[in-house]
Amino acid sequence: MRLVLVLANLPLLSVVASEANTGRPPATVSSTSEPDEVFVEAVIVGAGWAGISAAIDLQNSGHSSLLILEANDYVGGRSKSKNSDGTINAPPAELPSNNVPIEMGSEWLYETERGSQYTYLKRRGYLSKVNTDPYSNETLALGKCGVNSLTSFYWQTGSSPGQSQLLNNTEVKSLESDTWQSYNSFKSSCSSSHEQCKQAYFNSRNLSSLQRQYLNLIIDSCGGMDTSARIDELPANKTFTPDYEIENYWYTGYMSPQGVGFGNTAAAVAEQLKDKIRLNSKVVGINTYTVPGKVIVTYEVASSGSQVRVIANSVVVTVSLNVLKSSNINFVPQLPSWKRNLINGMGMGVMNKCVLVWDDESVSHLFPSKKWIELISNQDATSGRWTTFLNPSAQKGKPTLVGWVSGEDAMRMEDQTDDEVKAEMMSNLKLMFPDIPEPDRVVITRWGKEPNVLGAYSHHVVGRDFLDDSSALGNPVGRIIFAGEATAGPWLGTTVGAWLTGQRAAIEMKQYLTADFVMEASSSLATADANYIMPMVAVLILYFWRALI
Ligand SMILES: Cc1cc2nc3c(=O)[nH]c(=O)nc-3n(C[C@H](O)[C@H](O)[C@H](O)COP(=O)(O)OP(=O)(O)OC[C@H]3O[C@@H](n4cnc5c(N)ncnc54)[C@H](O)[C@@H]3O)c2cc1C
Repeated sequence: MRLVLVLANLPLLSVVASEANTGRPPATVSSTSEPDEVFVEAVIVGAGWAGISAAIDLQNSGHSSLLILEANDYVGGRSKSKNSDGTINAPPAELPSNNVPIEMGSEWLYETERGSQYTYLKRRGYLSKVNTDPYSNETLALGKCGVNSLTSFYWQTGSSPGQSQLLNNTEVKSLESDTWQSYNSFKSSCSSSHEQCKQAYFNSRNLSSLQRQYLNLIIDSCGGMDTSARIDELPANKTFTPDYEIENYWYTGYMSPQGVGFGNTAAAVAEQLKDKIRLNSKVVGINTYTVPGKVIVTYEVASSGSQVRVIANSVVVTVSLNVLKSSNINFVPQLPSWKRNLINGMGMGVMNKCVLVWDDESVSHLFPSKKWIELISNQDATSGRWTTFLNPSAQKGKPTLVGWVSGEDAMRMEDQTDDEVKAEMMSNLKLMFPDIPEPDRVVITRWGKEPNVLGAYSHHVVGRDFLDDSSALGNPVGRIIFAGEATAGPWLGTTVGAWLTGQRAAIEMKQYLTADFVMEASSSLATADANYIMPMVAVLILYFWRALI
């Protein structure tokens, strides 16, 4: 077995060794040339926020021999702005004038002054004017999902346009206290999923149809949106917004300045790494076996299908939990069982958006200026199906509505055509706003089918402790370091979580990085040569000895 590997790797070793022996600096990666093998100090898999922050930290501490491999044709991962000219995640200088970016992924920065990503972006002018008033138009506050005065609630009374009723504040307040708050205390004793707990709650109460549907909406839609989980997987004893010390900070989210967009912001931040990022380069293998003390990362070039091997001291893997669950990356040797069990046991859900934009300014007068619009549907089955809408028109400069679906409803719509999705969304909007015209621009996401993400974000699962799981998922396996949103503990599902894990990964990686990389690489390859040559010599002696007798 060992001998086969030796032969298979001789050409690789000789190329690497000859490069190392020349004393030349490690190969820098040009965006045009396509070498067969590359020799760098550190590889980062994925150019989302986790990968970007790890790379910036490494670069800032003097480790410039980096390669960031990104499978997509853009930087930013789950922060993805679609610009008015159709481009995805372009740096500010390349944005069209009067751009109205559509946020397909993350839209807000959930953070405060004490956070690192906030500070980084704020200092560079990448965030809108900071205002801690959650009701201001300059910040986009979430508040407690759906249950505060930032939301307009409509109660569906029929199935034709206009057949809904806007609830007044008193009605909303009593719904909130009679059902949501009451369910909140009921669920603290549930060890099951929200779905089971909700049914138990329904059975124990005599709720009106409005109360029942209101609670369905809050759990299916708000709960799903916060977590991306199916509610039959989501533990009922967890609140939607995190019930940790950071809970208060979720009330306010900072957005990018008008016309910029959060995905474009990621591209802007990554400009400083431009010569180190290789797009359209999907990592297919991570091998820590063949060359002792090294990691061989193999990636596939999208345009040619050819494979390139990168030899490095260490690798940071920032891909999503569902990508780890898939067999997209072949680890050699396979990851240890504790890691595989974690990956399989943890949960990552799906959440999608349908974004509608109108050119006609007067359209915005048709719907309320409040930030959230919720439709309390009249059937259990439709309570989470395009019933939650965000109104970011004030921030976007154009009438815009963003519809959300999550969990099961998000998976269902991924199999529908764009026309079917738009028709469902428009039909719900017409119940509330009968005169709403057809939108001029429609963007629909399908995150579950995005091949390099395969979902929205990680979430709690019944019977597991997410914080323990997440922290263990972030533990390295030798020279393979893990980062990304799912390893962010209490900051799960956020960009700041991803950012923080990148910073942690950079620290962990530094132990494998040296000031004199070429010398270190050369000596470890000598060890590798010795490791393989000795068994080869033994086999040859055996061969000649057998031939002689
Ligand atoms: C619809 C939606 C809305 C969201 N809204 C918010 C929000 O408002 N605020 C917020 O804070 N968070 C939000 N999030 C979550 C946030 O976007 C993520 O937590 C964060 O962007 C994750 O960053 P990451 O670097 O960990 O992972 P990713 O962004 O997924 O980056 C990983 C990168 O790895 C790449 N990759 C995958 N496989 C390979 C491979 N084999 N080889 C090379 N590269 C590979 C991917 O293409 C990707 O670019 C939202 C997410 C979604 C989907």
